[in-house]
Amino acid sequence: MSISPAAVTGPRRLLKRVRDVMAGPGSAEERLGKIVTIIAADMVAEVCSVYVMRAGEVLELFATCGLAAEAVHRTRLRTGEGIVGYVAAHARPLNLRDAQSHPNFAYRPETGEEIYHSMIGVPILRGGRIIGVLAVQNRTERQYTEDEQEALENVAMVLAEMVAGGELVNRDELIPADGIALLPLRLSGARLAPGIGKGTAVLHEPRIVIDRMVAEDPQEELTRLREAMRGLQKHLDRMVEAVGSIDLGGGEDTGDILDAYRMIAKDTGWLNRITEAVNTGLTAEAAVQKVHDDTRARMAQVTDPYLRERLHDLEDLANRLLQHLSGQFQSPAFGNLPDDIILVARNIGPAELLDYDHTRLRGLALEEGSHTSHVAIVARALDIPVLGGVKGVLDKVEGGDPLIVDADNAQLFVRPSEDVRSVIDGALKARAERKALYARMRDLPAQTRDDVNISLNINAGLLIDVPHVIESGADGIGLYRTEIPFMVRSAMPDIEDQTRLYNRIFDQAEGRPVVFRTLDVGGDKLLPYWQDMTEENPAMGWRSIRITLDRPAVLVHQLRALIRAAHDRDLHVMFPMIAEVAEFRAAKQLLDRQLEREAGRGFVPRSVKVGAMLEVPALIWQANSLLGQVDFLSVGTNDLLQFMFAADRGNPRLEGRYDTLSPGVFTFLKHLVELCSDRNVRLTICGEMAGRPLEAMALIGLGVRRLSMAPASVGPVKEMVRSMNARSVEQYVLSLLDSPGKSLRSGLKAFAIDHGVKL
Ligand code: PEP
Ligand code: MG
Repeated sequence: MSISPAAVTGPRRLLKRVRDVMAGPGSAEERLGKIVTIIAADMVAEVCSVYVMRAGEVLELFATCGLAAEAVHRTRLRTGEGIVGYVAAHARPLNLRDAQSHPNFAYRPETGEEIYHSMIGVPILRGGRIIGVLAVQNRTERQYTEDEQEALENVAMVLAEMVAGGELVNRDELIPADGIALLPLRLSGARLAPGIGKGTAVLHEPRIVIDRMVAEDPQEELTRLREAMRGLQKHLDRMVEAVGSIDLGGGEDTGDILDAYRMIAKDTGWLNRITEAVNTGLTAEAAVQKVHDDTRARMAQVTDPYLRERLHDLEDLANRLLQHLSGQFQSPAFGNLPDDIILVARNIGPAELLDYDHTRLRGLALEEGSHTSHVAIVARALDIPVLGGVKGVLDKVEGGDPLIVDADNAQLFVRPSEDVRSVIDGALKARAERKALYARMRDLPAQTRDDVNISLNINAGLLIDVPHVIESGADGIGLYRTEIPFMVRSAMPDIEDQTRLYNRIFDQAEGRPVVFRTLDVGGDKLLPYWQDMTEENPAMGWRSIRITLDRPAVLVHQLRALIRAAHDRDLHVMFPMIAEVAEFRAAKQLLDRQLEREAGRGFVPRSVKVGAMLEVPALIWQANSLLGQVDFLSVGTNDLLQFMFAADRGNPRLEGRYDTLSPGVFTFLKHLVELCSDRNVRLTICGEMAGRPLEAMALIGLGVRRLSMAPASVGPVKEMVRSMNARSVEQYVLSLLDSPGKSLRSGLKAFAIDHGVKL
């Protein structure tokens, strides 16, 4: 869309003049004084005023041309009060021929404004937050044109830079649109990985900083906009072609991407509004930001969840368009970062998380995320607290804000006060003391009060996890996720690389058994160098053993590397996602062949044990045949439960919908425990539930004797084991199997409290 030259000359000239004054000499207040005079003159208005939002939702008159000078810093309006307050409360312009007849008109004698009739007010927005109001008034009953309104909005956008820059009021005083000041805030979420972390906010997808607001040459800006749009469209096309891609960086599912795509493809309105803003003198970046700020502020009042989702899509698209315009694509992980990072993101994949220096990561706060998503698992392995489902965190947190992730109590403190900090310091100290207690328990047996021994093992996936097996006093590594080293590399590791890696794992485990699970990719575990792994329903798609059986070369290389590293040691190999016995047999055949081949080269493990992961419910219906062929079985409850309940483990909307502690899950596991015990097959539970003391208590009650968990869970689970009586828990748990209830959690908790079980 274009606008006639006559209509654009004025606004463009005005913008340039405002920008020149802003960049010129004088104090901020002096410059603001000049700006209101210029605007008043340009618009042939008797009054032009700027109100700035101060702490406590108060709009204060900061500069005026036309109203009484004494009113500056004296006239203050609450959000919602008067025309100015109305504009702030609704985050949209108000264009009135006769302001005095508007129900919101509030007369302030000190201003002398009773003589003015027409009035137009536009919000000064920054990142979707109201930070002020720009108003123009005339004596006569004048109807301001749409072009005039647009020009004022553009000026307001440029002014926003000045206000947000902290020259006029302290940045701490600026108030977000929802009425919460840049003062301390507490947001709630869900605990995805335990712990408490204190640090500085780093936005995983930082807002693009726009340093040029006013365009020299609108034609050039339009060309840039068109090119960036083409780049964005191409990017979206690639995503749509690869149906199922989750590469929006935010982890949206395909439906969202397609909706967003359709919206942008059809909604020329969005592009037209940006084009119009360029035509009135803004740079392409500033125009995208302006249109987006407008939408965001308007939608802040929308409560409909569907529409709010669409806002997220738009936000994502606007951000992507800004990336295309500015060329700023790189993850902040590769930039200069503080030593105490609290990462804030909508969602993030495990590999993206590992781009960050984990020794500096103190916590993770996600708008979305779910308990069994792999990012949560990786974070748990690294002992990084994670909060998920923190609604609005991206709107309310700025990069650099001090944050405290208190995942244990499911809360995030934004810019915490001294009081909160000192309470948290106390909690951190208590945690350190608890860790010391667990360290002291390291060499004590995981034995119940009635002398039942429980084998506690750790789940690992990174080299830094492995020493935890010694530090935590665990019996071994019950699950080594071999795909994690594959995910953090830019190319597939070759046999030599893998052999070196597995050798180091054996060495560091100092003789404790390590169960190596073969490559389990797909789902939310993507390899950056495998381009074609996108599909509509990845959790149930071509993943895990399905991939490695279809591409046996990958599995063969891995098995050879494992055999070589296991020379003269005990090799445990476990195949993931086995859905039917035939798959296990095919994988085992591959292993047998490689054992033979490598033996010919002098590599012979001391012993070889081969197991399967039970993650797909279908497998239990072949238990008879399966149990005759495996040396051990490990239940991956994360995947098993998503398939049992048909509930995507990564979907935050389903988080908490079905409880792991439900009668159905118990009955299933009880049956499995009996089958394995009858056939003398070693059974381990290695999903996330094994690492939670209450769940671990219930599993032991079901007869489970081996658990594998994140290293940080070993201490708390061991403490629980040593305080429980296996037989009494068993009796209680068995009495619950036929319960019609949804969850057995509260009953189990009460039981634990009554019987002095330490949770
Ligand atoms: C599981 O599914 O429970 C499991 C342990 O495997 P992962 O979480 O790596 O899919
Ligand atoms: Mg799994």
